[in-house]
Amino acid sequence: MGKFDKYKIDLKGMQADSAKYEFVLDNLYFAHIDGPEVQKGKVNVTLTVKRTSRAFELSFQTDGIVWVPCDRCLDEMELPISSSDKLMVKFGREYAEEGDNLIVIPEEEGEINVAWFMYEFVALSIPMKHVHAPGKCNKAMTSKLSKHIKTSADEDSDEVFDTGGDEIVIEEEVEEQVDPRWNELKKILDNN
Ligand SMILES: [Zn+2]
Repeated sequence: MGKFDKYKIDLKGMQADSAKYEFVLDNLYFAHIDGPEVQKGKVNVTLTVKRTSRAFELSFQTDGIVWVPCDRCLDEMELPISSSDKLMVKFGREYAEEGDNLIVIPEEEGEINVAWFMYEFVALSIPMKHVHAPGKCNKAMTSKLSKHIKTSADEDSDEVFDTGGDEIVIEEEVEEQVDPRWNELKKILDNN
């Protein structure tokens, strides 16, 4: 069985005009999906499928918690999320996404895998800006961070070591000291 087999919805084989599915998106799910926005969470999804004369209407109710880096201190923070989303699915000749919410799937297969759609609904429900409540930020990180921003311009020019044989040793030391979160921060800084 593949990692995402349990998220396949058999539309062609639907016995009734509606069906209900429950999914729990846990850390393992987020690890398998490997999306950029969320790596950890515990999210419940209730999916209701309704068959109409022309299409299938998939309604997702998504509620739970994800852990994402705080914008201010980069520490992980717990973020409650809640979202209601709809997908319309039609049978056709080949797979196609028409607009944001209309999916065409090959009639021969007659099924749709909702694993990635659910991830997108979770990711889209995360507010653009998310920070810890006042006073809850990691203080050490916050002060380091403001120092880092002030000195990052100088650090960049120090990246070329001109110390002959000692070069590798110095680089290793530097790498060890770098918290992985600095790399994320650096990416952001480099993009600006
Ligand atoms: Zn914070």
